Amino acid sequence: MENTAEKKQKILSCIQPSGIPTLGNYLGALKNWASMADGYDSAFAVADLHSITVRQEPAKLRKQTLEMYALLLSIGLNPEESIIFVQSHVTTHAQLAWILNCYTQFGEMSRMTQFKDKSQTHADNVNVGLFSYPVLMAADILLYQADYVPIGADQKQHLEIARDIANRFNGIYGNVFTIPEPYIGKQGARVMSLQEPTKKMSKSDANVNGFISMLDDKDTIVRKFKKAVTDSEAKVRYAEGKDGVNNLMTIYSCCTGKTLEEIEKEFDGKGYGDFKMAVAQSVIDVLEPVQNKFNDYMKNTDYLKDCAKKGAEMAQRISQRTLDKAMKKVGFMQL
Ligand code: ATP
Ligand code: MG
Repeated sequence: MENTAEKKQKILSCIQPSGIPTLGNYLGALKNWASMADGYDSAFAVADLHSITVRQEPAKLRKQTLEMYALLLSIGLNPEESIIFVQSHVTTHAQLAWILNCYTQFGEMSRMTQFKDKSQTHADNVNVGLFSYPVLMAADILLYQADYVPIGADQKQHLEIARDIANRFNGIYGNVFTIPEPYIGKQGARVMSLQEPTKKMSKSDANVNGFISMLDDKDTIVRKFKKAVTDSEAKVRYAEGKDGVNNLMTIYSCCTGKTLEEIEKEFDGKGYGDFKMAVAQSVIDVLEPVQNKFNDYMKNTDYLKDCAKKGAEMAQRISQRTLDKAMKKVGFMQL
């Protein structure tokens, strides 16, 4: 028999069902999940607890949670090899988050840029959950003793806080948590909005032309790229101040594997019209197979729910060990 004694390192990552995931989520996070899943002990969650930090319509949230789950399978994650679950099905996340809240300072949370951004976009609902979002995220990661967390660049600050909280807790109580490292891809870690290329592409953007949803059909993808903001230079080159073009070049590079220099050569002497059509087609080529699988999975929601149930059971079992340890360390009475 093969010697399997060598322990694999662990990865965990989450995505909110706050909308259909975008091309940004795919290139910045999901694509890496799929390529890393094999080499690691991996767990992936649909982070519905996180998504209620902004107001959600209950029926829509339920639908989007199942769709997100189906998409995780459609990008190639295998429920037999990775633990794939819905966050609210596992009780330990909210429990550990409470404990960690008491080891997190108000001041450090106040510096989080996502909180600042989201409290502006949702000025009528700046709730405490939105404020302590990074603490729940720390709990998600630390419960599974993750070595690496594949994320987009926007979540780097939250990952650093998770490390700070873990180090602080370990400093008081001994080694309870593994200190996680971010895994941020070299390219596509920050895909920008097609309409405001200085802002990141986001699935909860009110302007649907700003993002490509992973389920957009061909015509929609072409239309959105045609409308994408560029500049007046009409030259495909990667340079400071050309945020719109830089973003399109990055997307094209991620989807085709071509380097930025190769892309500049390919479109030398051509206008933005041709370039945008090529970018749109490269995105269609990447998303179409995922969409086909998604449509198949959605025909069998019983299978999806069965996978989610098994995933939740496994996640509960593994995370409970860490939670029990933390509860014991802080001095909660044991029976
Ligand atoms: P929301 O607007 O609801 O926060 P989101 O698009 O930011 O949605 P999340 O569920 O918060 O999506 O993030 C899921 C993963 O996608 C995270 O790892 C995050 O870093 C990554 N990600 C989000 N937006 C981008 C982007 N524009 N480019 C690259 N990665 C991204
Ligand atoms: Mg986000």
